[in-house]
Amino acid sequence: MKPILQQVDSGMNSLISDLQKLIRQPSVSAKNEGIEECAKLCKKILEKHGIKSELLRLGKGVAPIVFGEIKSKKNPKKTLLFYNHYDVQPAEPFDLWEHPPFSGKKIGNKIFGRGSSDDKGELITRIKAVDAFLKKTGDVPCNIKFLIEGEEETGSANIDAYLKKFKKKFACDGVIWEFGYVDSKDRPIVGLGMKGLLYVELSVKESIRDAHSSLAVLIKNPAWRLIEAVHSLRDSNGKILIKDWYKEAEPLSKNDIKLINSEPFDENSFKKEFGIKSFLGNKSGLEAKKALVGDPTCNVAGFISGYTGNGAKTVLPGEAMVKIDFRLVPKMNPKKQIQRLKSHLKAIGFSDISVKVYHGEAAARTSPSDPFVSQVIDAANKSYGKSILNVSNAGTGPMYSFVNVLKAPCISIGSTYMFARIHSPNEFTRIDLLKKTTKCICHIMENFGKN
Ligand SMILES: [Zn+2]
Repeated sequence: MKPILQQVDSGMNSLISDLQKLIRQPSVSAKNEGIEECAKLCKKILEKHGIKSELLRLGKGVAPIVFGEIKSKKNPKKTLLFYNHYDVQPAEPFDLWEHPPFSGKKIGNKIFGRGSSDDKGELITRIKAVDAFLKKTGDVPCNIKFLIEGEEETGSANIDAYLKKFKKKFACDGVIWEFGYVDSKDRPIVGLGMKGLLYVELSVKESIRDAHSSLAVLIKNPAWRLIEAVHSLRDSNGKILIKDWYKEAEPLSKNDIKLINSEPFDENSFKKEFGIKSFLGNKSGLEAKKALVGDPTCNVAGFISGYTGNGAKTVLPGEAMVKIDFRLVPKMNPKKQIQRLKSHLKAIGFSDISVKVYHGEAAARTSPSDPFVSQVIDAANKSYGKSILNVSNAGTGPMYSFVNVLKAPCISIGSTYMFARIHSPNEFTRIDLLKKTTKCICHIMENFGKN
């Protein structure tokens, strides 16, 4: 492996400049800005590194998938797939950025820009790992496939359809997930799962227009109505009160709890990062860690009604709207949960509230005993000196579709520093972590091909 790892060291300047090129091409899926251009740029970058590439399409209005493939001469029987995305979150609010969001500005050990970590930084480490093998051996230790989608930041609405349509093309024996976190002590987190998500909008329209608030004695206020409905969804400790909400939810196994217990979690620095004094329900220690991995949530993402500008305005709003995201755990079926939410509202007399569903996806986890897991842990330990095994991320990604359609284990490992401000102004990536992760990916390819 020595010459391969040396190649990673000597290729860092080119890694940085390719990453800057990717950052400088805006690709905001929420606004359909630069999507097509960025897909073409990814294809070009893959091809520049000797990886055969094509754009796959599902139809009009759907972002293309960039597919890349390189076959192994030495071991054509095993295939590793890298899942990434080339789209990014909107950069707003622009005025909070210290450097323009699409500048790719390099300062010391950091490269700033929207997508620098999420997910262009991750993508580039994988391309450069393949490149290191090709440059030094003219081969790769196993077949490599790249699946780079353009709608991850808006919820991967078409990934399931893509996976089903191009199932043969994407066939593989293992998937490396699009991102992976590195904690504040430079330990990479080997992640085995993702929670599911149900995103809904609840709204009430009481009257055809806003009214003078003196009429509050006669006209019902839709904001109050919605507050009452939302209040019925969970208790103040976060427990969801919708009937049968937890019915199929898979409890954590003894082994899961053992792994969670051994996972470090610095409560104080976490609280400091967010400027908070205590956790929901006063959780601490193992309870807090278990909740991150295994608790479903009901979160108010936004609530709007009436006047919210400066000063006072005595108004009685005509309508009110709330956006809510529910995180789901394995075995919870998003479709069933929507029905339960609707039945709940009806049962407590809130059938006037309309429910719009934006997004639903199930949770997924790879078993800690899968041999792929130990291969990735070994690679992470070799390149970082240490690593942390995480049963499930608290966030969501379309992992269920991959596990369900491709029947391959999925593991997340990557270069994203946990406080790299992804999705926020001043997102950055750390160059030292990009280098270590590229080496880690090299070790993963080697381990995967050998076993
Ligand atoms: Zn993201």
